[in-house]
Amino acid sequence: MAFYRVPAAGFATGAGQLPRAVRELSAEQITAIRTVMQLFVEEDEERGLSSRHTVDCGACGKLQPAAGSITYEDLTLCNACALDYELGRASGQVRNAAEYARLRHGRPQRRPATAR
Ligand SMILES: [Zn+2]
Repeated sequence: MAFYRVPAAGFATGAGQLPRAVRELSAEQITAIRTVMQLFVEEDEERGLSSRHTVDCGACGKLQPAAGSITYEDLTLCNACALDYELGRASGQVRNAAEYARLRHGRPQRRPATAR
């Protein structure tokens, strides 16, 4: 497989396409990134985060397990999105988490103006 592609099953609805990869990731690089992201999950679980703890992911917009979530500047991504983002960044498809959230998930979504 020449370029990393997100499995379609990972993001059921509204998943946008990232730009073409500008560099190819080797299987070893992909494995290394996956391993690191899994370590974040394990470290958080060791610190006592359980499946009861959730985060509102700034990318997919779903309540996701807090364990393994990562905060990039002011955007917290669930572990699945963080992995997807890190792979996209490593292959040059996106530059930062905010760009990832916008291109992949259409975030932040514009909220209609509401009267206060
Ligand atoms: Zn997410």
